Amino acid sequence: MNGKIFTLDIQTRQRMQLLDITSEVARAVSQSGVKEGTARIFTLHTTAGLTINENADPTVVEDILMELDKIVPLNDGYRHMEGNSSAHIKSSLFGVSLSVFVTGGKIILGTWQSIYFCEFDGPRQRKVLVKVTED
Ligand code: ZN
Repeated sequence: MNGKIFTLDIQTRQRMQLLDITSEVARAVSQSGVKEGTARIFTLHTTAGLTINENADPTVVEDILMELDKIVPLNDGYRHMEGNSSAHIKSSLFGVSLSVFVTGGKIILGTWQSIYFCEFDGPRQRKVLVKVTED
């Protein structure tokens, strides 16, 4: 049981979107049977990422997305012909993996924290892997 990789299938709906996947990750942790350990979360894409941030006020996520387009504009004379360099750069800024502690079979998160899948070049069908190990 320890060591299985769970796959989360995620359908995004917008060009840029932060999707709260905490409950999906928590389900994988529960199904793993691991009580004390680490959940590692990895997404298989070059134009998406993962982050942990506030879930209480939805305007926080809106502000993150609004400012990201200013930091890394959609069009800025990029050379990559596919036309999605902005999304590739955002992916590297955020990173494609996260680790969270698991205790008592549950993920440890702060009161206001959620795990977000970050879409930077949607809408697309995406995959997130979760592996939970004892330690
Ligand atoms: Zn590309």
